[in-house]
Amino acid sequence: MLTRLTMAIAYFRKMQLRIRPYSLQFKHPFGVSSNTRRETPTVFVCLQEGEHKGYGEACLPAYLGETTGDTLAFLEKAGTLLQHTNTSVSLDALLDELDQLSIANNAGKAALDIALHDLYAKVKGQSFAEFMGIKAAMPVATSFTIGIDNAEKTREKIEEAAEFSILKIKAGTANDRALIELIRSLTNKPLYVDVNQGWSNTTEAIALAQWMSQQGVLLLEQPMSVDNKDEMRLLSAQSPIPTIADESVKRLHDIPKMDGLFKGVNIKLMKSGGLREAMKMISACRKDNLLVMLGCMAESSCATTAMAQLMGMADFVDLDAPRLYTNDPFGGATYHQGKIKLPTGIGIGAFPLPQFDF
Ligand code: MG
Repeated sequence: MLTRLTMAIAYFRKMQLRIRPYSLQFKHPFGVSSNTRRETPTVFVCLQEGEHKGYGEACLPAYLGETTGDTLAFLEKAGTLLQHTNTSVSLDALLDELDQLSIANNAGKAALDIALHDLYAKVKGQSFAEFMGIKAAMPVATSFTIGIDNAEKTREKIEEAAEFSILKIKAGTANDRALIELIRSLTNKPLYVDVNQGWSNTTEAIALAQWMSQQGVLLLEQPMSVDNKDEMRLLSAQSPIPTIADESVKRLHDIPKMDGLFKGVNIKLMKSGGLREAMKMISACRKDNLLVMLGCMAESSCATTAMAQLMGMADFVDLDAPRLYTNDPFGGATYHQGKIKLPTGIGIGAFPLPQFDF
């Protein structure tokens, strides 16, 4: 009788979606090869079923081309669909349906995918790892990002990054050699270099990559424009440092098209549309012998904690974004001596801070 009653309640209980736009404020203006910004617009979602709440985030840096307005419109459409369903429906089927609502809106899809994984795991009383049948990740070292700035500010940022054992250097200007020399005068930590499509001359790019390999640079992220395929292939073949795709690879279907373009992929939830596809992308990279980097779009602790759940599967982890902001409204994964530690308990483990009241 009790079981039938519980089943009946489960059947009638529906999901409710709440949406909250927010502006994440950087500690220092964040400079990359194409622009500098002081804030990142983001949209948080909360999916509630009964007493359980799943949280997610759509992080929207302008260069991705997804706006807050587009994202809110997509989420409202998705909310109409979700209010007629509940967690008795297969998560895979529900994510397929949400994906088909739009050909774009990968960040909005990521917000819902994260919140749904969180909610489904919580309803089952399981951690994310238990729910997915994966091993919970032990603490992993993340790189800490140093945005493009003047020499004095760069020095200040390197000091602030003291606890991190790997630095990710944003590059892609005419001064890249001087920048690496400056950093090498301050620290001998291993470096990831992210060019954000800033190089265009293949001969110079190959020479720089060869020089950087002598400077303790471990990887070179998106050195050339997504349109420069032939040049990128040549650089990847001749660079002693592995080249990693970021802007060139968004979703799963981009990986089979790689064909020697890069040696690895920086997978991000805001590009992939969420955790489910990020996991498929990791498997596809392993199958194609590509290196796996897990990164983020300068997200809060909400989406960063979600991606950190997969960090045990990566070769390189770049999930430092919450440390770049002054007003992160979420808690979740924490940083200890440069390593990310996952929260314990049910679900993904990201939670709104009391002052955020979400
Ligand atoms: Mg990048």
